[in-house]
Amino acid sequence: MNKPAELKLGTVPVWINGKPVSTAKRYGEVFNPASGQVTKRVVFSDASIVDAAVKAAAAALPAWRDTPPLRRARVMQKFLQLLQTHQKDLARIVTDEHGKTLPDAIGSVQRGIEVVEFACGIPHLLKGEYAENVGTQVDTHTVRQPVGVCAGITPFNFPVMVPLWMFPMAIACGNSFILKPSEKVPSASLRMAELFQEAGLPDGVLNVLHGDKEAVDAILAHPGIQAVSFVGSTPIARYIYETCARHGKRVQALGGAKNHAVVLPDADLEFAADALIGAAYGSAGERCMAISAVVAVGAAGDPLIRLLEKKAKAIKVGAGDAEGVDMGPLVTGPHRDKVAGYVEAGLKEGARLVLDGRGSAVPKEGFFLGTSLFDHVKPEMSIYRDEIFGPVLVVLRVETLDQAIELVNRNPYANGTAIFTESGGAARRFENEIQVGMVGVNVPIPVPVAYFSFGGWKSSLFGDLHVHGVESVKFYTRTKVVTTRWPHQDTPAPGFHMPTLG
Ligand code: NAD
Repeated sequence: MNKPAELKLGTVPVWINGKPVSTAKRYGEVFNPASGQVTKRVVFSDASIVDAAVKAAAAALPAWRDTPPLRRARVMQKFLQLLQTHQKDLARIVTDEHGKTLPDAIGSVQRGIEVVEFACGIPHLLKGEYAENVGTQVDTHTVRQPVGVCAGITPFNFPVMVPLWMFPMAIACGNSFILKPSEKVPSASLRMAELFQEAGLPDGVLNVLHGDKEAVDAILAHPGIQAVSFVGSTPIARYIYETCARHGKRVQALGGAKNHAVVLPDADLEFAADALIGAAYGSAGERCMAISAVVAVGAAGDPLIRLLEKKAKAIKVGAGDAEGVDMGPLVTGPHRDKVAGYVEAGLKEGARLVLDGRGSAVPKEGFFLGTSLFDHVKPEMSIYRDEIFGPVLVVLRVETLDQAIELVNRNPYANGTAIFTESGGAARRFENEIQVGMVGVNVPIPVPVAYFSFGGWKSSLFGDLHVHGVESVKFYTRTKVVTTRWPHQDTPAPGFHMPTLG
């Protein structure tokens, strides 16, 4: 990991106070997953680099927080235009470093851009409340003020979209920001920081750091950072939440997932199977909202398995920028091997392996794995219990909707879920009783649009507030309540009892 300088690779720098910085004690390697080759090295930040970013963010904060929201919104609008102009370039960076197909990457960039569109409405979103005459000649109003220096730590699977869930909203609210994207996919964040600068964002308001645990721990412990947003796996989300709480920081930490799709016998099975194939194997299963477990109810089971097998077999695997490819490689070699290990584990545990992705025809170079499908999976098996985060779909069989709801609610993860049915009554009951943060009815990946908020329940979210939408305005601001009296001749004399104001 510390030798790539010898490979004469380009360096992905950190971005502090509007400038790239490439000097560091440690560097990491960035791969192109489709070739399996190291393509760049990336700066790994230590505590001194983190401290320099916090100082830049703190210095930029006073002027930015006092910039009228309308002017902040104008910078967001320019940033929005630049993101739209460069959408395809950003998507190409995503495909090069993550591996997902270019159309999929373009779609994910679009979903991120929509958060910036929402952030352009910030003047309206920051308005407070006002009540006249809460007491005699006494009025009360609220103001929403920025929290201060905020940080965001993001996962590898959405190198543009997930950072865009965080920093545009934080910055529109008047905060300065330090983004630490996944070290596996560092370049897109840097490009977005350049574009934001071009849009007129003052230097220091957005800083980008790269690195591993050392960088993250320095962020969590730094007294100059007031709030941390995290998206990643559940064990790290829990660690981030606990560590931030210990350091007195505001925190929202979104974790991993095992998303179930319940298919009732009355569903249009062809439609459901098409939806499930895209939701399970799109982005090689590396989506926090991927459907990774299908719960087939009663008579839906046998025909559904036949359809899933046929459609999963037809998926074309190849480099993300090649024509006609449905599924790209996994992000790294070790991750590909871990996913393949689960296929072996499922076999040993006694599930029926309908389709084995290890044997399918995939390119030899790079971190490719074909699609796997298991039937008759039991809740105690590791392929059901664990988040695999790869192209492995497991099917469980139950007899009734009651049993399906009970199964989903027993799972510790609770990010997204979907039901496929033609019955409004069954769908309504599912929506009402299911203990999951985001629910789809005949919609396999119910990712909320930017003006709603995104987040799971239980082990898929540590903290109270979800990302983007109105909940993110709450997360990135503090409410102050101001009670006002302007004395004149009729004002009562001061008293020494608890004021009741009336
Ligand atoms: P990860 O948890 O390994 O890494 C996420 C971030 O944490 C990265 O920036 C990484 O550098 C940092 N990190 C990793 N190990 C750390 C450690 N020991 N201490 C401190 N920081 C550490 O996640 P990943 O593999 O990059 O991403 C995949 C995971 O993210 C999956 O579990 C997926 O479900 C989850 N995810 C969740 C959502 C959601 O909205 N809930 C969205 C996308 C991804």
